[in-house]
Amino acid sequence: LLAAQGSGGVATYHPVLDQQSLRRLQLGTELEAAMADGQISVVFQPIVDTRTADIVSVETLVRWAHPRYGDISPDDFISLAEQIGRIGLLTDHVLDRALDRCRRWLDQDIALSVAVNLSAHCLAEPDIVERVRRALRRHGVPGELLTLELTEGSVVDDTVRNSTVLADLHALGLRLSMDDFGTGYSSLSQLRLLPIDELKIDKSFVLGMSTSSNESFIARSIVELAHNLGLRVVAEGVEDEMTRDLLTQMGCDKLQGFLVSRPLPEDRLEG
Ligand code: C2E
Ligand code: MG
Ligand code: MG
Ligand code: MG
Repeated sequence: LLAAQGSGGVATYHPVLDQQSLRRLQLGTELEAAMADGQISVVFQPIVDTRTADIVSVETLVRWAHPRYGDISPDDFISLAEQIGRIGLLTDHVLDRALDRCRRWLDQDIALSVAVNLSAHCLAEPDIVERVRRALRRHGVPGELLTLELTEGSVVDDTVRNSTVLADLHALGLRLSMDDFGTGYSSLSQLRLLPIDELKIDKSFVLGMSTSSNESFIARSIVELAHNLGLRVVAEGVEDEMTRDLLTQMGCDKLQGFLVSRPLPEDRLEG
């Protein structure tokens, strides 16, 4: 109905659709074309070993350069892609770019792992394990070099339903990382039972560390929790040296943030 009327008339005949809903509808239909069009790209943000400062991994972050609206944040269009059933397609695209980058490093004898964000919706897709397996095989990348970052809410919402999916993904040899840790509702006992390898301290805590002792205390608690559970721990959102030094003292394993590097397009990554 909406499509038949054309975008011009919708607001007039359906005043219940506000500007924001309209824009979402439009963006939804544009997203698929945008992927084919090359408007969707990825950037890579280095993650370093706290002790050696060596780059040990890069996180793949999706970008949409919209011809009319300019750069749209993934925080805005990921949920949209989920709502219109296109998140699987988007994820496959990002995974493909990440594994392609990883493969070309391997060809230069560089074993650098790549991290890809996996939305909650994707964990519920019946063929997700098979798609990841095929992508790894297609690029000839060993599972050990891939990390999937899961948001806390997505994993714990329905632990029972997701438990085989996580185990099956883990069986591919890849690492599972709990993203934005500390912002969701995970029970600690569930965390112990899930095949998680790593916690990422949410940047909301890390950003406040240099000015707030509360934030530092939370970060320290997460580092200790992770280590007590035998997990590695990464801090995201490290913007200043004081925060880096605090995290180093706490024994945080890896650091990610603007202090180290902003997310970079592929052609600026090499230098
Ligand atoms: P995230 O996975 O927690 O990624 C970290 C976000 O923090 C990124 O924002 C990154 O640019 C930003 N960041 C990194 N270091 C710093 C810092 O030092 N200071 C500050 N202020 N920010 C920093 P970005 O790229 O806008 O992505 C936002 C979120 O969108 C991601 O959060 C992730 O949840 C989601 N996302 C991004 N790409 C994908 C994707 O391919 N698939 C899915 N499902 N979600 C994605
Ligand atoms: Mg992430
Ligand atoms: Mg995060
Ligand atoms: Mg986030």
